[in-house]
Amino acid sequence: MIIYLDGKYVPKEEAVVSIFDHGLLYGDGVFEGIRAYHGRVFRLQEHLVRLYESAKSIMLEIPVTIEEMEEIVLETLRRNNLRDAYIRLVVTRGVGDLGLDPRKCPKPTLFCIASSIQLYPSELYEKGLEVITVPTRRNISDALSPRIKSLNYLNNIMAKIEANLAGTLEAIMLNAEGYVAEATGDNVFLVKNGVLITPPNYAGLLEGVTRNAVMELAGKEGIEVKETLFTRHDIYIADEVFLTGTAAEIIPVVKVDARTIGDGKPGPITAKLTEAFHKLTEIDGPKIFPEE
Ligand code: PMP
Repeated sequence: MIIYLDGKYVPKEEAVVSIFDHGLLYGDGVFEGIRAYHGRVFRLQEHLVRLYESAKSIMLEIPVTIEEMEEIVLETLRRNNLRDAYIRLVVTRGVGDLGLDPRKCPKPTLFCIASSIQLYPSELYEKGLEVITVPTRRNISDALSPRIKSLNYLNNIMAKIEANLAGTLEAIMLNAEGYVAEATGDNVFLVKNGVLITPPNYAGLLEGVTRNAVMELAGKEGIEVKETLFTRHDIYIADEVFLTGTAAEIIPVVKVDARTIGDGKPGPITAKLTEAFHKLTEIDGPKIFPEE
């Protein structure tokens, strides 16, 4: 495996980062999870824009341009001869001292890993997932905006631990007001009376690239889409529920807090959007090997 690290493509064994890196010491940095399908990098531009916007928000200057970053992602895939992959792109504040002052970190650390990922067992994409809502609330936007894809995932990890302890694979987090925010690494959608509903960004969530793609596809399929606040009750009485994310793709949810959703099977709108999503991955994004 070849990794891009700070300007060089090196074997995995040589891709090491200092223990004084503030990404490690303080979770001070930003990242992206991106996927390549059929030799193309899905929505690469949108992922990069989100990365640069997250970095801007935390006042982290990424040391390469967005065009150079695009080439880093594509070249990492080429060097690993990958056409289908999960890509992790990380920019940290860099090496500093043991204090948290970012002014002590002169040079950001930048790395790109091209590998694979499977969040949930493959049979659950057919059967659907059981999830719970957890006591840990999504952190409030005023403290650390969930719209920033930062390296600080402790809030999400605490929710994941609660799901693990309850014997479920995923958790839905509410915001401080009790409205549904998102899952630990995915956005939440429900379908009620043919309308597709997802919480708006001010509910306190990461605006997923998959979420945006799914809303676009629904529009094209003639499905009404609403971004509106909703509660756990709305989930319990929904006809369909599903989660979206780069790693998760689109996964149906059939049980929430022991309530069966709809008839307990993945629903027709979920299936339609999943099909449209997979079709889109065949044509969307820049080619890894332009000669293909
Ligand atoms: N919410 C959170 C907290 C996430 O970590 C992710 C994964 N990046 C998502 C939502 C889904 O975003 P995307 O579709 O861009 O992967």
